[in-house]
Amino acid sequence: MYYLNTIRNIKRNKKNTFFMLLMALILTILVSPFPVKAIDIENDYIFFMPEHPAFTQSDVESNFTNYAERGATREIHTTGFATNVVGIVLDSVNGEALPTATILAVGSTSIEIFSDANGKFNIQNMPCDIYNWYISADGYRNAEYHNYSIDIGDTIIFTFFLNAHEEIHVNRNDFYRNERSVLPEDLLHSSIDFNNEVSRNMTSPPIVKANIRVLNNNNTITTVGRRDYLYAVVSSELYTENWYTQRGLSSAQVQQLYRAQALAANAFTEYACKVYSPHSALTADVCRTTCCQVYDPTKITTIAINAVNTIFENNGGTWNTALVMHRPTNSTYAYIWGAYFSSCGNQGTLAHAGQPALLAKICTDLTNGVGGHRKGLCQMGAAERAKNGNTGVQIINHYYTNCSLVTCTLG
Ligand SMILES: [Zn+2]
Ligand SMILES: [Zn+2]
Repeated sequence: MYYLNTIRNIKRNKKNTFFMLLMALILTILVSPFPVKAIDIENDYIFFMPEHPAFTQSDVESNFTNYAERGATREIHTTGFATNVVGIVLDSVNGEALPTATILAVGSTSIEIFSDANGKFNIQNMPCDIYNWYISADGYRNAEYHNYSIDIGDTIIFTFFLNAHEEIHVNRNDFYRNERSVLPEDLLHSSIDFNNEVSRNMTSPPIVKANIRVLNNNNTITTVGRRDYLYAVVSSELYTENWYTQRGLSSAQVQQLYRAQALAANAFTEYACKVYSPHSALTADVCRTTCCQVYDPTKITTIAINAVNTIFENNGGTWNTALVMHRPTNSTYAYIWGAYFSSCGNQGTLAHAGQPALLAKICTDLTNGVGGHRKGLCQMGAAERAKNGNTGVQIINHYYTNCSLVTCTLG
């Protein structure tokens, strides 16, 4: 029995890998050809480039009111903690929305709903729990998305894929690996030339990459628009808003924490694109797991969308982003390795010339309160700073030495 199970698991894992690849391919097809949408709005920081398949700008502005048709909208009557959930079901090959797909969420209770003519659904007051999601539709093989939690907070947005020929299996836990991230010390001992012209001695702000090459499990590459990429990363790299408010932060303070996370993730991304990536041999900028930063587009949150939108702007049709850069002099710009960690581990106080922005900093973490020090941004320390009234930019300025936000054009 054990042996048989093992065989099944191996087969399933192979399928998983294949489908992650397929999803990546599909996302690439979906995202790449979309032209930059002409935006004519009062707000200069809310826009989508390329437009996200699951939601529009007006969906966010209206807090997802009338997201799905009435038949695909269901309100759950519960007295416990609950959250608004929306989602879309798409064909994994051509990206077309799939109407009348069945969405079954199984937690301690089960909820079933059907997608509308646009492939969309809305579960209002969905009880907070960890669910396995089973997606099916006529003419398609089933898809399973395991261990996706519903947490208290703003609207959660799901993007599910179905394929006509193969089952799709995604497990949220696969994105969080036990492997250690690359540490500043590793970079110090690597063959990177920190003093090269590209990374250290620019005399004007650089053009940052509009599209990010993400490495998939099977070593294929998915190219994702920078903002959509950061929506998913910031959604996954912090706890939910409620987790922080339960520990004494106000909602406004959590938003500042999310903004700091968006800035750190943006800086890390550019460093991986331009200076050093552990995956450059496979022509990728980043991978999808905690090795780099978690990229899981299946589930994103509105608090992350709003935080990421604050670090982009539309300047007369040109897209800009705020990049944390080291400023050795008033006329010099340098990329920083936007390293960040979940919490401090007393990692030493050595500074090194290769990464002058990454001096070790004294830090008090939100959860254990123990003072520590590490190079780069500490997420638990950032939360403590937000709780003490720091803005997102002040948090960044604490953890990254002699840095400031530089407005860079996307290209
Ligand atoms: Zn990686
Ligand atoms: Zn810390």
